[in-house]
Amino acid sequence: MKLAVASGKGGTGKSMVAANLAYTLSRTEPISLVDCDVEEPDLHLFFPAPVTKRNVTVPVPVIDESVCDRCGKCGEFCRYGAITVLPNRVLFFAELCHSCGGCMLVCPKKAIHEEQKQIGTVSFSLPFPDLSLFTGTLDTGSPHAVPVIREAKKQAAAAGDPVMIIDTAPGTSCPVVEALEGCDACILVTESTPFGLHDLQLAADVAARLGIPAGIVINRSDGNDEETLRFCTDHDLDVMMTIPFSREIAAIQSRGDLLSRARPEWQKDFMALFLKCRALAGVD
Ligand code: SF4
Ligand code: SF4
Repeated sequence: MKLAVASGKGGTGKSMVAANLAYTLSRTEPISLVDCDVEEPDLHLFFPAPVTKRNVTVPVPVIDESVCDRCGKCGEFCRYGAITVLPNRVLFFAELCHSCGGCMLVCPKKAIHEEQKQIGTVSFSLPFPDLSLFTGTLDTGSPHAVPVIREAKKQAAAAGDPVMIIDTAPGTSCPVVEALEGCDACILVTESTPFGLHDLQLAADVAARLGIPAGIVINRSDGNDEETLRFCTDHDLDVMMTIPFSREIAAIQSRGDLLSRARPEWQKDFMALFLKCRALAGVD
């Protein structure tokens, strides 16, 4: 079962929920936890352990100026504006390139070949015998989050654990869609503020468009959740768990600990959350 943990906005406690779920479940079965928030991965902070890293690369075109006759066909073909052909040289903008390989195919002079360019890494660690952590990290300045996310998920799938928990980036952009792709269910973590509700609406819409069943976790609840509850009722979204605002919980997290580890009585709540997710996904 692939379970995503997402949120419409940052800072809602999405990673905290993913980490607590993974820790709780790993006490009874093998779990793969995948950090797909590749611009700011933070799950490793909850699970310090030695890592092995693999580079993630994408093919990019390299133009042999000595063969190129500046015909302009590559620039005309590239819909991303990554190539501009000037009378005396060809400019290539790597940050715009989507590695489609089309320019190489259309070049009549065979002046273009591809070379691999590193865009990020996927780190693997085993903080507990039944908890495998895969961390996607985008290189600074690289705009290509999607291939790093795809590779992190691929490596986790190869591990073959029965449950994969995917921590997505916040928001509703392409990297979030890539992380959600293929998931059986999705937890949307929110907080009962006007911004929280607005962004929950966007995230719920993305999950619905992808056909992924979603349920809600309200975090840092001060008990005034009426508007969020009304939205969930109106959109047939189950509020699967409510975590109260509490100084004690905040203190546990601020020292890099997990609620379910520091206060083991919370494990039954996270296990109950997982069982609701299984029901959402239609898994017995
Ligand atoms: S298509 Fe080939 S020959 Fe034409 S401008 Fe591009 S690199 Fe040069
Ligand atoms: S590989 Fe595709 S995206 Fe990149 S420069 Fe060539 S045509 Fe453009």
